[in-house]
Amino acid sequence: MSNCAIVGINWGDEGKGRMVDLLTEKYDFVVRYQGGGNAGHTVVNEFGKFALHLLPSGIFRPGVVNILGNGVAFDMENLWNEMQKVVEQGVALTPENLKISDRVSLVLPWHRDLDGLEEARLADKKYGSTKQGIAPFYSDKFQKKTILAGELFYPEHLREHVKDLVEWKNLTLTGVYGAEPVTVESVMAWLEEYGEKFKPFICDTGRVLKNAVKAGKNILFEAQLGSLRDLDYGIHPYTTSSNSIAAYAPVGSGLASAVIDEVVGVVKAYSTCVGEGPFVCEWFGEEAQKLRDAGFEYGAKTGRPRRVGPIDIVATRYGVECQGATAIALTKLDVMSYMDKIPVCTRYEMNGQLIDDFPFPVALNDCKPVIEYMDGWKSDISGVRTWEDLPENAKKYVEYIEKEIGCFIKYVSVGPERDAYIERK
Ligand code: GDP
Repeated sequence: MSNCAIVGINWGDEGKGRMVDLLTEKYDFVVRYQGGGNAGHTVVNEFGKFALHLLPSGIFRPGVVNILGNGVAFDMENLWNEMQKVVEQGVALTPENLKISDRVSLVLPWHRDLDGLEEARLADKKYGSTKQGIAPFYSDKFQKKTILAGELFYPEHLREHVKDLVEWKNLTLTGVYGAEPVTVESVMAWLEEYGEKFKPFICDTGRVLKNAVKAGKNILFEAQLGSLRDLDYGIHPYTTSSNSIAAYAPVGSGLASAVIDEVVGVVKAYSTCVGEGPFVCEWFGEEAQKLRDAGFEYGAKTGRPRRVGPIDIVATRYGVECQGATAIALTKLDVMSYMDKIPVCTRYEMNGQLIDDFPFPVALNDCKPVIEYMDGWKSDISGVRTWEDLPENAKKYVEYIEKEIGCFIKYVSVGPERDAYIERK
């Protein structure tokens, strides 16, 4: 048996979903261990094109068991809507191939309300939340003020718990934000409506995974977002509200004792970043728009144009360290085929000094990118399937990144389709 985590090295949107969809061939279980439906993993395969938000990317493979672990932000309403879309496109979702932890906490409608209220209060200092309720949700989880999915099986206890939470939450909604209070009945009605739909899927997934380990099964852990959005290691406070790094996978999956044999870090061949926060190598104007259009860099969840720029070696090297990556999947190399010269942010200049190490988040505001150029390859590489067939200049670019970030680039992706990749030995 062997376990693997597929994680983002940068700011997210690196193409993790695409890599999970590809690599699930070798795995029996795919587990989402953190985050909510506030980002999207795009997968293109024989069923069509999908923007998955909360569903693990292994749902397309017959026989693979997909798990939402206890570390996830489980929004029943959003997941139900997402499931309907996927089922309509011919993908089977049953309690056999989708299992939800009884220990996962529920995102409640008030989390979304509070997210919107707080972003509005912050006005031009907003964090760039997608307003899916993720930050208020995780804050409540740390205060032990959430409802666990397993509580849906204990209706009397659930009503009492909801009563206590409503009384407490209304203090914030009305007192802090001057918003309308919520009622126990409205929350109970929502919980009953969606709870009934999900009860068949909810079980002790920790036990399922422990049994899987005993049976020698292979487990894939799927992260949402990237190292630089990790709550502890990212560009605070413009991070997500959970730990997206591989080290959290055992905790958030329900298999606390998991040993992760391989960490595949997904790196995009250039940089993109959605939302607010420092982004040292950012491009603006025509140059940016050209790259954005070439890579179709618009958010899977929100449609927001992504900020774009050259690959950032300083940030990528830091991301690789945070993840303990054992191999890299470099995606979207095909997008750079139009460039005469390939730009690389090799270092930062901070107050007149050149630096190689990713600095403290506040200091990022004082950093400027040092850009160097490599020769482009100027040919369509989307049909290339072997390393030997890649143009020399594309190989040089891949080898340069590999050397600078100190990690083997095992996969080079040259298109969104499942088979559009090169595996290096
Ligand atoms: P994730 O959240 O990390 O899974 O990434 P997203 O799905 O948000 O963004 C990645 C986007 O790039 C998706 O639209 C993918 O279909 C697409 N994609 C992934 N790999 C490649 C590639 O190698 N080439 C091209 N052209 N597109 C890719």
